[in-house]
Amino acid sequence: MSAPTRTNPHTGRPCPDWCQIDHAEPAQTSCVGSGSSGLRLPQSTIWARAMITPDGPRVTVHGMDWATPDRDVYVAVNPRHAGDLAVLLELLAGATPEQVRLLAAGIRRAAADLNGPPEQPEADDRGQLIGDALRDLAGDA
Ligand SMILES: [Zn+2]
Repeated sequence: MSAPTRTNPHTGRPCPDWCQIDHAEPAQTSCVGSGSSGLRLPQSTIWARAMITPDGPRVTVHGMDWATPDRDVYVAVNPRHAGDLAVLLELLAGATPEQVRLLAAGIRRAAADLNGPPEQPEADDRGQLIGDALRDLAGDA
């Protein structure tokens, strides 16, 4: 005889057999389970999980840098994008650490570009700004 099916009260759907969450606990709205155990690196741990959230299925990848707490990262993607993410990671298996860091810098630069130009300093004195602009024009002549 199989165990009775549990239901996630937040989604109204039956819990998959891999769900390890006690939905009676506050804020446990998602079914969570499967994925990988923690990949332990010298200064960090990274793991992946399947989740069924109230917004839909997600694969989450969580990384914790033990030496730098602000580098505690969490990425949640739909299952199709998770397959793409897995391929990228497999491609990176052939890269050097420096190549991985260069790619990381490129990703940060691309994200920064999409977040808009840096804010322009506020003009404390509009007359001063106009005066500076006129001097710049005179200097070009
Ligand atoms: Zn569940």
